[in-house]
Amino acid sequence: MTVNGHLNWVEIDLGAIGSNTKNLHLVTGRPVMVVVKGNAYGHGMVEAARAAEQAGAEWCAVARMEEALVLRQARVNMRILVLGYTAPSDIPQAIANDLRLSVFDRSTAEAYAEQARASGGKLRLHLKIDTGMGRLGIFPEEAIELIRSMMDQSCLEMEGIFTHLARAGEGHTESVQAQLQRFDALLATLSASGLRPPLAHAANSAAALYFPQARYDLTRCGIAAYGLPPIPDKPLPAGFRPALTWKARLISLKTLPAGHGVSFGHRYTTQGVERVGVVATGYADGFRRSANNRVVLRGKCVPVIGAVCMDQCMVQLDEVPDAQVGDEVVIIGATLSALDVASAWGTIPYDVICGLAHRVTRIYV
Ligand SMILES: *Cc1c(COP(=O)(O)O)cnc(C)c1O
Repeated sequence: MTVNGHLNWVEIDLGAIGSNTKNLHLVTGRPVMVVVKGNAYGHGMVEAARAAEQAGAEWCAVARMEEALVLRQARVNMRILVLGYTAPSDIPQAIANDLRLSVFDRSTAEAYAEQARASGGKLRLHLKIDTGMGRLGIFPEEAIELIRSMMDQSCLEMEGIFTHLARAGEGHTESVQAQLQRFDALLATLSASGLRPPLAHAANSAAALYFPQARYDLTRCGIAAYGLPPIPDKPLPAGFRPALTWKARLISLKTLPAGHGVSFGHRYTTQGVERVGVVATGYADGFRRSANNRVVLRGKCVPVIGAVCMDQCMVQLDEVPDAQVGDEVVIIGATLSALDVASAWGTIPYDVICGLAHRVTRIYV
């Protein structure tokens, strides 16, 4: 029996990304900045951005300028915010490509102003505030002076001010409220002095859906746009659906005698005569070398046995006697969600889908 076609692929439902984007807009009543960093969480950055754009999103966000430039080369016309660090030497290119950048310290802000002035353009900036994340961001008490001095520079436009919530994804109300209070206090002080930038934003998917007071002027949503729940034990509201299904083929089937080792290190030994299948997925595809993997074959959840190899893994098929070489094996799908896989791997769904390797073919449906 021979197997034709793709051996390991993801099917991506761009209609799901579009309708999830529309739903986010409806639920939040705010413009949605669709976050497409990290190859759109494994979904394909350009395709996902186009789907969001067609669904009416006016904004998208990436982590690094390289990602933004790929979007511009693909003629994505949305407003793009770079959320992470950008080197001052990249400022002329950022201006030429109409990118918005994040800034989170004074010396970088000054270097940006110098570059923008020299290039004769105007740079749009969003100032990031650390209200409790402990990552990027200037502290609220330092922000006022910085904004004042940046507003004096005609080569800079202070378009936005934002913060990021450390515990919205756990539904941790006290933590979210404490961060929002610090942000609100800063916004109030800025407003009183006429210094508040036009766009304030704080909400990731979890906050956008479950903490209405975090919505401000727009929300920054990644995971929910891909149809996955940002809070693990809280299903998304009706209407959201996952965009991604991950599949591989069964490429070999054999009967092993009792006491036969399976895969590197012989971590598994057959108890009796066992039907064993070889599936074309391995850790080079992003299928992790974890001990408790399962996949779905002909509607049955079957255990992966022995160590996962780079390009293959083995499954125990005693429960699926009619399995055939060439069968589709579902790694992430309706029966086994990204959340199920994440809990088997001791991680979060973000990590699972972002880990989908480049060589896994993306098929858009
Ligand atoms: C990645 C990211 C988001 C999106 O988070 P989700 O939980 O996927 O919605 C929002 N804001 C910032 C700053 C981010 O880095």
